[in-house]
Amino acid sequence: MPELPEVETVRRGLDRSLLRRRLQEVELARHDLRWPIPVAACHDLRGRRCVAISRRSKYLLLHFDGATAPVALVHLGMSGRLWVERRRDLDAWRTHEHWRMHFGPLVLRYADPRRFGVLDVVTGNELGTHRLLCALGPEPLGEEFDAAYLFRRTRQRRVATKLFLMDAKNVVGIGNIYASEICHAAGVRPRRGAHRLSRDDCARLAIAVRTVLSRALAAGGTTIRDYIGADEDTGYFQHELRVYDRAGLPCVACGAAIRQTVDGGRSTYYCPTCQR
Ligand SMILES: [Zn+2]
Repeated sequence: MPELPEVETVRRGLDRSLLRRRLQEVELARHDLRWPIPVAACHDLRGRRCVAISRRSKYLLLHFDGATAPVALVHLGMSGRLWVERRRDLDAWRTHEHWRMHFGPLVLRYADPRRFGVLDVVTGNELGTHRLLCALGPEPLGEEFDAAYLFRRTRQRRVATKLFLMDAKNVVGIGNIYASEICHAAGVRPRRGAHRLSRDDCARLAIAVRTVLSRALAAGGTTIRDYIGADEDTGYFQHELRVYDRAGLPCVACGAAIRQTVDGGRSTYYCPTCQR
């Protein structure tokens, strides 16, 4: 599943290829993904220029010009993939390909086998109150998210630290893989109750969130060129992971064997020595 660094990498790729281009055509192979696609609103985007490509949590936001400043909101769900292809190289619709947007010489394509993705269109005014965006916590790489916020927010929260970090109401964009990495980098046991985190723990966690996500982002950045003209796996998780999926292997920090626990079908990895 694409996590925040992957989505930000996609955003940068789209920013590089689609910004300032005019949308000529939207083709929809179906009228719903996770939720219905607003067909008329999609077609109303025709003729508009893409003036910005931003991201909120794991939602990609394509901003278009015009009086209502419409925004196409795209989420990759569990298995969605966006890629840009040159129009002259365009081939037949793929299995699980659901929509295309034509921007001059380039075509933005979306495929999603499990169809948990989202395509919606809202006006600029509605963006802040959109049902999918309005309850989201702060961005992990934004200014609002820091040690003080983390300490304040974790008081009275008996949930495990790892689950706290994965709850988008607390902070957005931290998925299962990076949550393990962040806890390891901060020296905190994933199962420790969030309410028991000290100010020092929160300070280390806040730094770990930035470090781990920034490092992943830097690694993801090397795959940006693959979004043009490529249709193979776009390199998710190519970056080096220090604990995730390393059960039994030595901790990179201390050499102890990494442990794995499974909760609700999701694996957690930690070092029994480095993490308390
Ligand atoms: Zn260790």
